[in-house]
Amino acid sequence: MGEIRNSTQKSKFRQLVGSEKLQHMRNFSKSSTVATILAPLLCIPLYLDNTHPVQFYTWLLAMAVAVVSRFILLKRIQPQNNTKRDFILLNTAIGIVTFVWGMGWFVFVQPSDMSSYLMYQIISLTVLFVGMVGYCIDWKTFSSFVIPLKLPELVFITLNFHQIVWPIALGSMVAFYLALKMGFLFAKSWEKSFSLRLRNDALFDQLIEEKNASMAANIAKSEFISTASHDLRQPMQSINIFIDMIDPAELKDSHSSIFIRMRKSVSVLNRMFNTLLDISKLDSNFAINERAFHLTEIINILEDRFSDICGQKSILLSFVNGHLAVTGDPNLLEQILRNLLANAIQYTDKGAITIAFSGQSGTLDFTVKDSGCGIPAEDLPLIFKEFYRSDHSRSQYDGLGLGLSIVNRIVKKIDGTCTVRSGVGQGSTFSIHTRFPVLEKSEAAHHRPMPIERDESLDKSKRLLSAEALVQLGIIENDDALLNAYQQYFTQSGYAVHIIPHEPAAFEAHLLSMPQLDFILSDFRLGEHDGIYFIQKLREEFNHDIPACIVTADTSPQHLELFSQHNIEVMYKPIDIKSVEAFISARTR
Ligand code: ADP
Repeated sequence: MGEIRNSTQKSKFRQLVGSEKLQHMRNFSKSSTVATILAPLLCIPLYLDNTHPVQFYTWLLAMAVAVVSRFILLKRIQPQNNTKRDFILLNTAIGIVTFVWGMGWFVFVQPSDMSSYLMYQIISLTVLFVGMVGYCIDWKTFSSFVIPLKLPELVFITLNFHQIVWPIALGSMVAFYLALKMGFLFAKSWEKSFSLRLRNDALFDQLIEEKNASMAANIAKSEFISTASHDLRQPMQSINIFIDMIDPAELKDSHSSIFIRMRKSVSVLNRMFNTLLDISKLDSNFAINERAFHLTEIINILEDRFSDICGQKSILLSFVNGHLAVTGDPNLLEQILRNLLANAIQYTDKGAITIAFSGQSGTLDFTVKDSGCGIPAEDLPLIFKEFYRSDHSRSQYDGLGLGLSIVNRIVKKIDGTCTVRSGVGQGSTFSIHTRFPVLEKSEAAHHRPMPIERDESLDKSKRLLSAEALVQLGIIENDDALLNAYQQYFTQSGYAVHIIPHEPAAFEAHLLSMPQLDFILSDFRLGEHDGIYFIQKLREEFNHDIPACIVTADTSPQHLELFSQHNIEVMYKPIDIKSVEAFISARTR
């Protein structure tokens, strides 16, 4: 109660306590109406013969009037209206009945007759007990009940002090006193527990409010990241593709070095976009999608993505036991490996990086080992925290400090463990243990492995060997500059490129002359209809589930779900055109 600081709060609290008490006591008095009618009638067999009839019937009449008045007064109580008035009505209603009971001492009891005395004493204590059960949550109401009952008894024993049995009278008065005291104490403790309940309710409401607010903030954060990055991803995609199309060898020396620096900055930006994308995917309560697959699937993607940069830095990148097949989530595994490998490359100037897989424990374990700068011992407990970047890396390398926290979150999600061994100048080894079972050789044979060797499809001369072997690639894109870049690049790479219009009428007309496609590459937002619509239309036309991929800047989780429902793969902008090509080539071999 001490916490209820100002008077407005106090009076609000009193109001609440009052109406809660009133509700409880009014319900009790209503439910005991029958008892108030029956109890006086029981006095007929007990006292009628030994009491003067006029006195007896006058008492019974007075009791009838009191019971009816009690009934009327209780009916007039309307909780939540006017608590003060309602309390007066209630206290009067119960007080007049107990007063008539109190007057019974003068009607039924002969001071010299021990049995009539004791009998009425029992009646009086029973009434007292009933009142205690119903009204002691408010000491004023309880007093209004008990004083009119016991005060006449006190007067009666005082007037007849020379005839009554003193120990019994004294005991009754002590019970009277103790009942009053108990009523008082009980009322106080009830108020305290009620106030605690109110505070608990208020805290609970506050907690719910804060939880909702933090959930809303989190959703807003994810939405902000995805909307803001959507608008940035689009132009970044064009930059990436045009950079890919420039050959530094054809530039003047001075321009060539500027171009190489520019390309490096763009690749840092790409890395940051991918990190933000990983974070927003993790925020969206992602699911684990397990299937059987060969690790070569992941190795190919990683090699296509990182072998150039390893070559530039003279780092020897090798994979051990990449032939294994497992049942697990390839996307999550790829995300872990991508982040660890990107770090290993970032923090290694030259030497070797080895990714070694093992199935010895029955489930997939792997290590990512580099010969880089290593991590100081004092940083080791901190590097998995969000946004943590150690001092030595902050000054020399780009990054957001999110890579390892992403790894950590995914590893936890798949019930795995992640440990690190490192020392300054001694390189680092990150070890991951997963619960993804490694398949036996016989089982693995059922799943088509992808060759580990460098993607030969990138060798244009091989692709161009025979015209019939050309991959028929359909492209739907509404950004003219990007479309031109795609067309130029994929044609040069030996694909048969079909530009598919995205205006509905032109699309329908184009369907008639289109050959059977091997792969569809589409943008997502295309105006009136989206990429899913066109891909589905093409699949229906050829009555074949043509492999398809949407390249989009839209990273919202609901769209991700939509793509997977339609069996459409997705790549996020910004992405370099070589990766898109490697992706398509892996699926059309
Ligand atoms: P970022 O690399 O963006 O700084 P990370 O969360 O990926 O963020 O890594 C956190 C820190 O851990 C890095 O700043 C770096 O100091 C250290 N670190 C991570 N991996 C390596 C590694 N392979 N070699 C040396 N230091 C590393």
